[in-house]
Amino acid sequence: MAIRKIIEIGDDKLRKQCKPVEKFDKRLKILLDDMADTMYEANGVGLAAPQVGILRRVVVVDVGEGLFKLVNPVIVETEGEQSGPEGCLSVPGRSGIVTRPMIVTVDAQDENGEPVHLRTEGFFARAICHELDHLDGVLYVDKMDREIFDDEEYEEYDEEYEEDEE
Ligand code: ZN
Repeated sequence: MAIRKIIEIGDDKLRKQCKPVEKFDKRLKILLDDMADTMYEANGVGLAAPQVGILRRVVVVDVGEGLFKLVNPVIVETEGEQSGPEGCLSVPGRSGIVTRPMIVTVDAQDENGEPVHLRTEGFFARAICHELDHLDGVLYVDKMDREIFDDEEYEEYDEEYEEDEE
């Protein structure tokens, strides 16, 4: 197990289409373990293989409901909609409002190639959508409704408050 280097926006590898995993071997298990370690070390809730420079369809997610290692994940069904803040370990220091489905059903494989069927909701569904986008070279900044600037948000709130006072 090891911490891998997380690559950042501007690196071409984040913009590539990732290839499916065909071999469920020891290397894959090491990659998944390293990705989990790297995600926890960075205080993230998800990490996709291209973020550590590996162009394969592999993600790890842990939003507080346990660690999920998903190989060749595919979204098979979505329901509803949610808008909320999102950030990315490959886009440090920024965040934005992104609209995603509220419920996401995923078919994938585990590290041994066994089928996994997962129904996720809320923040978990958001994390799944975000990580799976990485496998197609998509970053949340490509589809965010707007960027969040902490100062700006605060000022807007103040202005609204002042208007209410008048
Ligand atoms: Zn990300």
